[in-house]
Amino acid sequence: MKIVAAKKILKANDQLASENRAEFAREGVLCVNLVGSPGCGKTTLLEAVFAQLAPTLSPSVIEGDIAGQVDAERMERIGIPVVQINTDGMCHLEASMIAAAAQGIDLKNVDMLWIENVGNLVCTAGYDLGEHLRIVVLSTAEGDDKLIKYPAIFQRSDALVITKTDLLPYLNFDVAQARAGMQRLAPEARVFEVSATTGHGVAELVQWLVEKQAAARD
Ligand code: MG
Ligand code: ZN
Repeated sequence: MKIVAAKKILKANDQLASENRAEFAREGVLCVNLVGSPGCGKTTLLEAVFAQLAPTLSPSVIEGDIAGQVDAERMERIGIPVVQINTDGMCHLEASMIAAAAQGIDLKNVDMLWIENVGNLVCTAGYDLGEHLRIVVLSTAEGDDKLIKYPAIFQRSDALVITKTDLLPYLNFDVAQARAGMQRLAPEARVFEVSATTGHGVAELVQWLVEKQAAARD
């Protein structure tokens, strides 16, 4: 019987992820891995960010879904070059999938490569894809307790974006509680409060991304 340890598979993933990261850096591309539950507003956040991004910064997107291409179609509708990965049941993306998808992207003419991961707060935490930034999205509708229940994904993110803040009057989501949780899990991480519906907070997030992109180019 041949037994393959999960640790070995993850090590192979990490190796490929490092190669992806180096390739993106060589091309001056800032790669962002967007993670969060199904329905937290990842695609809507992308639409809001791209609407405010200066025309001099060209984004491209890799969409990860178990099935279908509805998010990729939304990107096409707003004129963003997109590659769809269908994982056929797998609940997260891996570095090898990103390497394959990146072949379909003109990296020389891209400044920001976004990966919208499969909606999942659990195993997406364990897979480095070769990103420079990992952004975790948490919507107010999900509850501030998610930081306590799924600490790994928050711990391993560079920023937390709290979405759907326009719903705060109707929910008992405690922003201060979520901020405190993030401070405890990832003290270096930035926290943004955003409503894609009203546009609140989007400019601040875009500003931070632009700074990160400039740093990636140096
Ligand atoms: Mg989506
Ligand atoms: Zn998974």
